[in-house]
Amino acid sequence: MAIATTNPATGKVEKTFDALSGPEVDERIGRAVTAFGVLRGVPLERRAEWMNAAADLLDAEADEIAKVMTTEMGKTITAARAEARKCATACRFYAEHAPEYLADRPADSGAVGASQAFVRYLPLGPVLAVMPWNFPLWQVIRFAAPALMAGNTGLLKHSSNVPQTALYLESLFLRAGFPEGAFQTLLIGSGQVEAVLRDPRVRAVTLTGSEPAGRAVGAVAGAEVKPSVLELGGSDPFVVMPSADLPAAAKAAATSRCLNNGQSCISAKRFIVHEDVAQEFGRLFVQEMSALRVGDPMDESTDVGPLVDEKSREEVEAFVADAVGKGATILCGGERPPGDGWYYPPTVVGGVTEDMRMFAEEVFAPVASLFTVASLDEAITLANATDFGLGSNAWTTDAAERDRLVDELEAGQVFINGMTTSYPHLPFGGVKNSGYGRELSAEGIHAFCNTKTIWIA
Ligand code: NAP
Repeated sequence: MAIATTNPATGKVEKTFDALSGPEVDERIGRAVTAFGVLRGVPLERRAEWMNAAADLLDAEADEIAKVMTTEMGKTITAARAEARKCATACRFYAEHAPEYLADRPADSGAVGASQAFVRYLPLGPVLAVMPWNFPLWQVIRFAAPALMAGNTGLLKHSSNVPQTALYLESLFLRAGFPEGAFQTLLIGSGQVEAVLRDPRVRAVTLTGSEPAGRAVGAVAGAEVKPSVLELGGSDPFVVMPSADLPAAAKAAATSRCLNNGQSCISAKRFIVHEDVAQEFGRLFVQEMSALRVGDPMDESTDVGPLVDEKSREEVEAFVADAVGKGATILCGGERPPGDGWYYPPTVVGGVTEDMRMFAEEVFAPVASLFTVASLDEAITLANATDFGLGSNAWTTDAAERDRLVDELEAGQVFINGMTTSYPHLPFGGVKNSGYGRELSAEGIHAFCNTKTIWIA
């Protein structure tokens, strides 16, 4: 895949970049090691000042970087601006909370026969971050903010279609005050990732992306015995029970499914509705999906912009054609509009069955599968009938139902009467084929620390 900015709203290649050569990558890894030697010795208060400066830059430059993101991957300009601001919030969150998360944790020294026993969190060194294009700032910041606060250095291999956002991130941390080499962007193709990860100077890896990419990178990390965090795909369920506030649920359902033009790992993708309210929820949901405005992502009033590339649009068309061929019904959308750009409308598919591809695979487009069930048992079984386990959503005001959903949904997060969202305050990650490890919160900073036990006689 060429390293290039190609505008999804027009299909036009706007800028191309050369990949770094092997010796250039080698030199940058060397710089990351040197910077690690500096950063690990910098007091936490100074790192926090730099992180707060990065937050200020993100706020001040939100409009500018939003335009770059929208041009590179097609998210709406309003969503892009909100993403930049959310990144600023995450930087400030870690500037404020890192001291508490990284503080020595005392242990019962008497019980282990020591005069002192405690746990200290120390950085690991250069960490490779392989990142996706869909939230091109956020996915990187949610790794970088805790990792840099802990004293690690970062090497970013971003998606090949967001090189300008990737280069912005390198300049952001440098301008905020972090030492040269503390956070670097490697413009490389996916074929060059293995060599970087096998380099003994690189101590750990985090990957956010598809399941195949996660398997490939996780296998190398395993062979090299390097810590890894994998944040992979999802096919989140959205369960609606009879006690739910149906208009609110339908609105949240459409917002979640069409988030980021339908290209979010934690979008609800499978809508599982109790038969008592199936007809009414279906009507409201179709109404909400049909009301969303599809169009130019630079237009402030657009709700849904184009898909990232033509291949993605062909893929979703194949999903829909497969379902319709096997008896599913299109309740709205389902046809590409004429003209330039890789647009695909919000679509609801009813009558989805197990033999259809969209039942089992992740649909990375604004296309919802709608199911009707007769009981909570059936809803939970269907919700868990996927290899993924990232987020999950359930709508009910019945406390007993809520408790069962919280315990029994196989997912890294359960959102009741709301849609799955990531917050710096809460851990984020999945189970099953959605990956392992957690980002954000205390877990996110400890993921790339040496949790060192100290015992003193
Ligand atoms: P992708 O194709 O897997 O790419 C992600 C990153 O991995 C890119 O930088 C890509 O580089 C690289 N890559 C791909 N194959 C690789 C390999 N074999 N070895 C090493 N690196 C490789 O995913 P995407 O299309 O960018 O993103 C969409 C996927 O990400 C969806 O499945 C979505 O659900 C998932 N996602 C998950 C989360 C989460 O938090 N769990 C968040 C966002 C997205 P190139 O661009 O050069 O190919």
